[in-house]
Amino acid sequence: MTPLPRDGSRVSSDIRRHNLGLLTRQLASAGPQSRTRLAEATGLTKGAITALTAALVKAGVLKEGAEGASPSRSGTGRKRTLLRLAADDVALLVIQLDADSATALLTTVAGDELFRMERQHGRPMGRPGPIIDVLADTLRQALDEAARISRRVLGTVVVVFAPVSGDPAIVLADTDLGWGPVDLLGELRAREPRLAADARLCPDATLAAQAERSLLDGIDDMLYIKSNSGIGGAAISGGRLIVGPRSMAGAFGHLAVVPDGELCLCGQHGCLVTVAGPEVVLRDAGLDALLQSDGLSAALAEFVRRMRAGDEQAIAAWEPAARWVAKTLSLLSIVFDPDVIVLGGYWAELADTVDPLFQRLGPPVALAAGWTPPAILAGTLGADAALHGAVWHARDRLLADPMQLSARRD
Ligand SMILES: [Zn+2]
Repeated sequence: MTPLPRDGSRVSSDIRRHNLGLLTRQLASAGPQSRTRLAEATGLTKGAITALTAALVKAGVLKEGAEGASPSRSGTGRKRTLLRLAADDVALLVIQLDADSATALLTTVAGDELFRMERQHGRPMGRPGPIIDVLADTLRQALDEAARISRRVLGTVVVVFAPVSGDPAIVLADTDLGWGPVDLLGELRAREPRLAADARLCPDATLAAQAERSLLDGIDDMLYIKSNSGIGGAAISGGRLIVGPRSMAGAFGHLAVVPDGELCLCGQHGCLVTVAGPEVVLRDAGLDALLQSDGLSAALAEFVRRMRAGDEQAIAAWEPAARWVAKTLSLLSIVFDPDVIVLGGYWAELADTVDPLFQRLGPPVALAAGWTPPAILAGTLGADAALHGAVWHARDRLLADPMQLSARRD
């Protein structure tokens, strides 16, 4: 248990910030509402609500407006003062780098899109420089657009389809791009100094997992496993994302499932990615040339199309891969005991082919008595899962410290 700091003022300022965050998150998720309703929804006292909302109104974070009337008990109707977030001059920014392209997305605090651009980077293997140039250019254009529409950029998130670790965070390696460790935030800032000092670097899988989970009601124990750029995932247990001190949790593609299997780039033999990774499946499906010419996303989309059309070579390529995926899900189910397993990336489109293989494997005999197999669900957010997750992450971070929204820059 973390001991409380002795400094009472620090404790009270932490509590105050927490309560301010409660209020603004409630307003962001449920829309404008009265102080009475805010007190009910947050469990804070009316006195606390009065003091906190006064501070937020003064800072320009909340605005008051008498919108509508609520019938009082006497039936005469009484004007309600509604509070709403005043974030009309704020934009959230997400920059995303995947195996084929760089994307920049600006949204309102509510998540509505203000600007989006995507550029192919051409995947020059092993050369971070030209790819970061393209990413920095999308960043520059998004910042220019934010300036044009007079919005301050807050809560910047940079998403990579690769493992991330360290403080400040760096990309550990990106096998799709042939990268070793890259200080992506530092390289971006060298090219575009306007990149926010508090910009966060995040791996796609954890963001996508949280975004998919937010669409499932009441699910606190969930595994997310996806394939687009390699194979990755995340485990959410008791409502919390498992990250680990080295940020390695969720590297499901490198579970060594095949005894004495093929040598993997990670140095182990028989990793899941060596038998079910996108390159393997695309090669066996005869789509290698398309992968080289049009990139990974286009090749995987074509693979899914062929699967749906009953293409024999595609089905033959998928069948052994799907068995290894099912086997891996079986192992992970024993380790994590999730309620649901969500498949993301192009696997979302093929979840109905994995589920029967998974169910057929059944439980280990010793665990059979109490075994309810987790449901396998197709992810619903498609290729934008990580982008959505990044926007929500940025918003949550911003609203956890809502005074950042204050337009006053002292
Ligand atoms: Zn490996």
